[in-house]
Amino acid sequence: MVNDISTLFSKIMKGDRVALGQAMTLVESERPQDRGEAIQLLELCHQQTENRNKACRLAISGAPGVGKSTLIEAIGLKAISKGFKVGVVTIDPTSNISHGSILGDKSRMPGLSSSPSAFVRSSSAGTVLGGIGRRSFEVMTLMEAVGYDIILLETVGVGQSEHVAWQLTDGFILVLQPGGGDELQGIKRGITELADIVIINKADGQLLDAAMISRSHYQNALHYLTPLRNDWEPRVLLCSAAEGKGIDEFWESLRLYMDTRLNTNQTENNRNHQYHFWLSWSLGITANQLMINHPLVRQKLSAQLANHDNRSNPIFKAEYEIEELMKELIVPSTKNNT
Ligand code: GDP
Repeated sequence: MVNDISTLFSKIMKGDRVALGQAMTLVESERPQDRGEAIQLLELCHQQTENRNKACRLAISGAPGVGKSTLIEAIGLKAISKGFKVGVVTIDPTSNISHGSILGDKSRMPGLSSSPSAFVRSSSAGTVLGGIGRRSFEVMTLMEAVGYDIILLETVGVGQSEHVAWQLTDGFILVLQPGGGDELQGIKRGITELADIVIINKADGQLLDAAMISRSHYQNALHYLTPLRNDWEPRVLLCSAAEGKGIDEFWESLRLYMDTRLNTNQTENNRNHQYHFWLSWSLGITANQLMINHPLVRQKLSAQLANHDNRSNPIFKAEYEIEELMKELIVPSTKNNT
């Protein structure tokens, strides 16, 4: 794909946006022949950010349709107007998981997509796991190296992805829309306790009253939850991303959050934790893929599925046999020694 990684690296460091897009495609590639070059590039980027102020990486999480991209556009443009450079790592809206609009990001975030101070990168459907991009962490590493100060990672709230996004970022913003029983759902799923800032979006028109009720529910709920950070008390804000209302207050809260929690030492520590989490998470995915795609496992799985009949060949026994095969593949001698 790209022959000379140091040339690619110097191009992206000089602000070449086409080269940055190519670099992201390289690190997102799962083709074995691309991985070596991707790692070289990531190592160069990692060195670049050592001993330097780190970007603020924020997860923006919420169910499809709550207004995440509209909000990212609004807060991103606000940050740019204050002199920041903004990177956005988002999910391709045509992805099966996001169930988002069929329009591309140029339509979803027109201002950011055309701003020289922003870079919007979409993970395509094939590279999205749960509600997070398989290589989003690596894409954020590239953005940080080339000097984006605030990086917004969009996460589609579909289960475990929020926890992964929380672990991989410096702050977690939960976006909800008024009413709809979200209050209880969020609390039940333990998502609310992850939030540093809860945004009740669509606080406009006929939804305004419901938005105010949602805000007080969440304020009460947060009151009873033990904060996960000892240096920040989560807050709930009302916003209308579509009408640009509440964006100034959101920005002020973000600035306060960054000033309070993200001094140089803190961000350095955060990044180390994130690297450790990412390593286990990423290797877990790889191990799973390698194992499930092993020819013997596939063969046995297909055979079991073909012969499956719950009475004569129960599924739990099938699982046990495949599990034993997997163990045998990892440590071939285990069976013989016991
Ligand atoms: P996402 O799927 O979470 O990224 O949501 P989008 O940003 O694509 O928005 C989903 C829909 O909600 C679109 O039709 C938006 O125009 C609409 N929307 C977004 N923000 C607001 C808002 O503040 N108020 C209202 N009334 N609609 C909004």
